[in-house]
Amino acid sequence: MKRLLAGIAHFRKKIRPGYRETFAKLALGQKPDCLFVACSDSRVVPNLFASSDPGDLFVIRNPGNIVAPGGPGGKSQADESEAGALEFALLRLEVPDIVVCGHSECGAMRAICGDLSLEGAPNLQSWLRHAENALRLPPHVEFDTRLPRHNLVAQANALAQLENLRSYPIVAESERRGRLRLHAWYFDIAMAEVQAFDAESRRFMVIDEAHARRMIARLVRRK
Ligand SMILES: [Zn+2]
Repeated sequence: MKRLLAGIAHFRKKIRPGYRETFAKLALGQKPDCLFVACSDSRVVPNLFASSDPGDLFVIRNPGNIVAPGGPGGKSQADESEAGALEFALLRLEVPDIVVCGHSECGAMRAICGDLSLEGAPNLQSWLRHAENALRLPPHVEFDTRLPRHNLVAQANALAQLENLRSYPIVAESERRGRLRLHAWYFDIAMAEVQAFDAESRRFMVIDEAHARRMIARLVRRK
């Protein structure tokens, strides 16, 4: 807690003055760029690695950046809070994009690979079953096989969660109408680099300046 409290005092004194206008505007409403689904891991820092500002990202975080699938009537099979956030993002905020961002050295992925024990954690055990599909690496993806298995599973999981998202009628319908795009990303902690799954090359590719330009051009074309 010490770092958290010292950080708040520092923000109030040094950083807040520069943000007063931004926050005053944001108090009137939000129009985030996307819904960002990330792991709870403390090393995954979307606001830092995406240089994003307050108001840019609507965020869901949980162990393993998992989207529990929808069941009958579009109700979540395991987490109403998450499905509620999804509904709010799509119906109220009308976000045009959803990013599911996995990451390297993810404890949740190590657990589903059997490298970490989940003894005494029945809720976590039950939650992680929604990521078990990722253990079968999809054959259409060209993975970097130099990566350890849990990191390959983390990439497969980001893709698998897009399918879980599509199990919700509001997602499938918005995507079908061209109002929503789904993206699977991966944050490499050691390299502090973000990769995006590229459907054309069927690989995860680092989002460097050139690749970001290509991705933006593609978004504009599809608008
Ligand atoms: Zn994680």
